Amino acid sequence: MNKVELKWKLTPEEYHVTQEKGTEAPFSGEFVNHHEKGMYTCVVCGSPLFPSDVKFDSGTGWPSFADALPNAIKHVPDATNGMSRTEITCANCGAHLGHVFDDGPTETGKRYCVNSVCMEFEKKNR
Ligand SMILES: [Zn+2]
Repeated sequence: MNKVELKWKLTPEEYHVTQEKGTEAPFSGEFVNHHEKGMYTCVVCGSPLFPSDVKFDSGTGWPSFADALPNAIKHVPDATNGMSRTEITCANCGAHLGHVFDDGPTETGKRYCVNSVCMEFEKKNR
């Protein structure tokens, strides 16, 4: 999808965060306190990213996951803002999603910190 198509498809905030590596304000996203069963998918291309059963409440103000679906996420070293972090992007379309940290409280030790605006939710009906 080219820039013009993306700008048409996405809201200005979705475009800014996914394409320009922006960050939504903490506690502002629709999925911070979201506990339904289902699958979080990429807002840009619809690829499944995070199942709801690995979501946990990190208290950071962003939706947080202990793990991601295999091969759904690309890990990219990110040294911007004077920090050494790992950016996570959608493996299919390259959309910026957030960052992953090694301080997760669950048994994976990972904390995938994801902007709500980068995701859509598909509810599990069965
Ligand atoms: Zn995508």
